[in-house]
Amino acid sequence: MPKHQNKWEYPLLAGTAGLGIAAVSMLFSSVQYINGISRSAENNVVYEVLTTAPELARLQMTVAARFLPESPVTDDDVALRFGILENRMVVLGTAESRRLRQDGDEAIALIERMQKTVREISPRMQHLKTSADAVAILSAIEPLNTAAAQLAALTTSSSSGRIAENRAKLIGIFWQLLSEILGLLICGILLIALLRRARRVARHSASSDVLTGLPNRLSFNSTLSEEFGRGNETGSLIVMMIDLDHFKHVNDTLGHAAGDQLLSLAATRLLTAVPEALLFARLGGDEFAAIFRETDAERFAVDVAQRMLETLHQPFDLFGSLVTASGSLGIAIASPDDLGSDDLMKNADLALYAVKDATRGAYRLYHPALKQAYLDRQILASDLERALEKDELELHFQPVVSLGSGRTSGFEALLRWKHATRGRISPAEFIPIAEETGFILPIGRWVIADACATAATWPDDISIAVNLSARQFGDPQLKASIVSALSKHGLRPSRLTLEITESVLIQNDHIVLATLNDLRAIGVRISLDDFGTGYASLSYLTRFPFDAIKIDQSFVRCSTGEEDSLIIVQTICELAAKLGLSTVAEGIETEEQLAAIRATGCDEGQGYLFDRPLPASECATRIALEQLSWVREGATAALNTIASIPRPAEI
Ligand code: C2E
Ligand code: MG
Ligand code: MG
Repeated sequence: MPKHQNKWEYPLLAGTAGLGIAAVSMLFSSVQYINGISRSAENNVVYEVLTTAPELARLQMTVAARFLPESPVTDDDVALRFGILENRMVVLGTAESRRLRQDGDEAIALIERMQKTVREISPRMQHLKTSADAVAILSAIEPLNTAAAQLAALTTSSSSGRIAENRAKLIGIFWQLLSEILGLLICGILLIALLRRARRVARHSASSDVLTGLPNRLSFNSTLSEEFGRGNETGSLIVMMIDLDHFKHVNDTLGHAAGDQLLSLAATRLLTAVPEALLFARLGGDEFAAIFRETDAERFAVDVAQRMLETLHQPFDLFGSLVTASGSLGIAIASPDDLGSDDLMKNADLALYAVKDATRGAYRLYHPALKQAYLDRQILASDLERALEKDELELHFQPVVSLGSGRTSGFEALLRWKHATRGRISPAEFIPIAEETGFILPIGRWVIADACATAATWPDDISIAVNLSARQFGDPQLKASIVSALSKHGLRPSRLTLEITESVLIQNDHIVLATLNDLRAIGVRISLDDFGTGYASLSYLTRFPFDAIKIDQSFVRCSTGEEDSLIIVQTICELAAKLGLSTVAEGIETEEQLAAIRATGCDEGQGYLFDRPLPASECATRIALEQLSWVREGATAALNTIASIPRPAEI
């Protein structure tokens, strides 16, 4: 949860809790006051005081009427009235009654005085026999009237004071409660707003990518399946998947912060380039995708794809380093054959895969043939898994010739696959499958072992070169398998050259460099293959002490037609000489090319002009014939020398 939310969340929660507690305590207080008022009313304490005077009056009237002629008042009536008064005195004097009335000293003194008077009158009431007794009792009762009136006045005023006080308190409580409830209401509203915002943020972060702020794969998939459900009536649904080429290289060479920066900048550019997109998302890593709907789908898709690729062409400024980037793009247009949005994604993926497998930096529209190619590839992959045990793999060896002496200095081991039904399959086709599936690990170990075994049958000055794939650098047994092959066949490590391409370094820079250093330390030579075709060939020369570079055959092929290619080859050779590296030119096919390459100062050459890759048995024949020709050349030279010596007769 973002920080600014926490800042308000806790004070609000504390405020709400405080207000809640205050409101509850206020409620208790008000209940107390209300109870007090209602209890006063229930016990009728004021009423008891106020009715004391009328009770006294009734007693006085009863006593006065007792001895009137033909009076209906009896002694029992008098006793009843007096009893009521006595009882009233007891009630007025109880502690509870006093507490409820909150009697002051004056009221207490009055009640005690009245009680005392009633107690004094009580025995005289037993002897009420004559009108004189009645007069005497009436005059004894008389002070009670004043006291009762005073008590009534005192009680009334204190009770109305108390009621006014309670009412004022209740009104105060009402306002306080009202403000607390309002406070609670505001806090509640703010908390709900915070909660809604937090939910919005949570929903957003679950459906969007943190780095670029774009929707993520989850939201892409849900939008795509929604759109797919709508059918194609308003236009065909289009999915485009774009992948940044060699993104890992940027990460490895410039660091992850620069990689993140590249992703953010590329995301912004791509998003701006596709205003028509229903959704543009980052699927993960360096992979982005967009959904469109358009009637003229194919024309539209090609137009947008070009726009997206072009927008990446301008260099990116990654914290001061200018980096050029490119992307590969796969397009799929919904067709009636698609059963679900997944099919559309798979098709776009297949199209993207086809671009990455070929040129990169381009786009490709999905075609059912791609699916077939994919399925064929799957079948080939499963056949390849068993190729080793079925003994279908074989090594051929192409000679590497010293351009100075014209002699074979070594051979490059090149894999061949004799497929049971498809016949010979080119390594250019099956090596990428082996790399992708990981079968290259057991195959690679077998290649090293077989190449070393064959090289051990050759003269000691003839070397062997073996190609290594990037994936093999993840093989923990790589070094051990090389060391064991060398020692098993008694091959000097310097006779073995390992050829790697730039792609190996791009993919696993640190691990690869460490492994290469390890291998070089045991005396094995390392060569940079296909030099000049990659991404940053020159920069790799400064990062690892290679022993040799193999100039790619594309330069050699052009060396006789294009001046520039020859200049490049010459410059590479001069640079290599300065760095202490030897050079091998690949793909020499004609005498013309040989002459041109030889003139550049290149050390060695390889190509069909010298020989195609040969089975091991033919290598032995070639070496033997070459040795024989040296012997013949040597013998001819010797004979010529002998022939040139003057004969005795001629002396
Ligand atoms: P590479 O290492 O650059 O090998 C040189 C390729 O150029 C070989 O193709 C070779 O037959 C071909 N070549 C040689 N001279 C000429 C020529 O004069 N003209 C033309 N047009 N081509 C020539 P190949 O044997 O088809 O191998 C292709 C690639 O497959 C190799 O390129 C290498 O990258 C890979 N590869 C082959 N064997 C292995 C292996 O055992 N392990 C690994 N990891 N890769 C291998
Ligand atoms: Mg090679
Ligand atoms: Mg090569």
